[in-house]
Amino acid sequence: MCGIVGIYNNEEASTLAYQCLYALQHRGQEGVGISTYNGSKIYSEKGHGLVSEVFSNRKKLQKLHGKFAIGHNRYSTHGEKSSINIQPLVFNYKDSQIAIAHNGNLVDLDPIKHRLEEKGALFQTTSDTEYIIHLFAHSKESTIEGKILDALRQVKGAYSLVILFNDKMIVARDKYGFRPLCIGRLNDTVIFASETCALDLLGAEYERDVDPGEMILLDTNQVKSYKIDDPQPRHCIFEYVYFSRPDSRIFGEYVDKTRRKIGKILALEKPVEGADIVISVPDSSNTIALGYSQRSDARFEIGLIRNHYIGRTFIHPTQEMRDLSVKIKFNSIGGVLNQQKVVIVDDSIVRGTTLKKLVRMIRDKKPAEIHIRIGSPPVKYPCIYGMDFPSEEELIANQREVAQIREYLEVDSLEYITVKGLIDSTSLPADHFCTACFTGKYLDSEENY
Ligand code: AMP
Repeated sequence: MCGIVGIYNNEEASTLAYQCLYALQHRGQEGVGISTYNGSKIYSEKGHGLVSEVFSNRKKLQKLHGKFAIGHNRYSTHGEKSSINIQPLVFNYKDSQIAIAHNGNLVDLDPIKHRLEEKGALFQTTSDTEYIIHLFAHSKESTIEGKILDALRQVKGAYSLVILFNDKMIVARDKYGFRPLCIGRLNDTVIFASETCALDLLGAEYERDVDPGEMILLDTNQVKSYKIDDPQPRHCIFEYVYFSRPDSRIFGEYVDKTRRKIGKILALEKPVEGADIVISVPDSSNTIALGYSQRSDARFEIGLIRNHYIGRTFIHPTQEMRDLSVKIKFNSIGGVLNQQKVVIVDDSIVRGTTLKKLVRMIRDKKPAEIHIRIGSPPVKYPCIYGMDFPSEEELIANQREVAQIREYLEVDSLEYITVKGLIDSTSLPADHFCTACFTGKYLDSEENY
């Protein structure tokens, strides 16, 4: 998962990066870092926790000198949770330094690792991002941009990247465009960010997305675009379902609009006859539930209240903590649910933990019936490109049929949107999306089910 940002040419670069990271906090809450360049060296500040925690002291931002900044919100899907893996990663290179921030997961790294170690590479972190730096350092190309291109052409998998090398900023997106990355402008400042909500916060103008397979180099006298590889868009559809913020525009469409459409199509595909109310699991399924109610006779209601002051359920590493956190996070409203035929609309079921607990909580309020409708098809396979899904054994839809999941959740009915319905909710054709978590068909990798 993760969020990335790049600020090029602003006296307040570190503050702008900090503000963007605030807007991208939903993309990773485990750690955060900012690196800047001031004409002679790279300054970095990073740590575990939220942006507000790591940068609670303004002095930290003031120490980040320079007009060029890159930043990263971490949500580890590769490498340990240790602080050496908090990005931007900074390496010495000849008489300079290079800093890199990465969103996505690289795949099939073993042959590259073997090759690099044979040549004497010493890995400093357990992050996949470091491979790019080693490939860069070993490249025979003569220019910085040539070396980075050379490195990127050797790796497989998902990457949206920002790199800082002296006063050069280099951004890149893999040929599939798995993860989003946009370009904005604020007067003479160029901004790169995972999602457009970061541009909105700064009042910057959205210019365009970095294209799949494109690398862009900015330095004081040029902006140059390079082709890493032929584009072959396969965006992560889960960015629309769950991960991105609804107010962002990614892959050419607003997330909010797509989520409403998911709800509408779900209502048409999987109606609930005679339902009284539709409720969401706030906040992630709010818009999908709203769309669902607009295409059904049941009215949209708020039946669950969320406490906003705790992290996402997945952040807690042990099962017991995850169970408890569902209770801390939600409570149900008796006056809304009592005696009603309720449709709960959620964006996805991963392990099934959240819904199991929520159904119990809702059942306590004595509704007439409980029906569940899900805005994504059953998640049956792990994601190797950076979405945080657990192993097959932990994915409930990998282990059980839909009817068994319904039984496990103890509800009157359970239905999911189809893969076609989900794709029809977007404005792009089916072959522009990666749907490996539903189908098991992975791109560009040995792993296929
Ligand atoms: P569970 O079924 O209890 O494992 O959690 C499902 C809920 O977690 C969904 O309703 C989403 O809101 C949220 N979710 C979905 N995908 C992810 C993910 N990759 N990482 C973290 N949370 C997720």
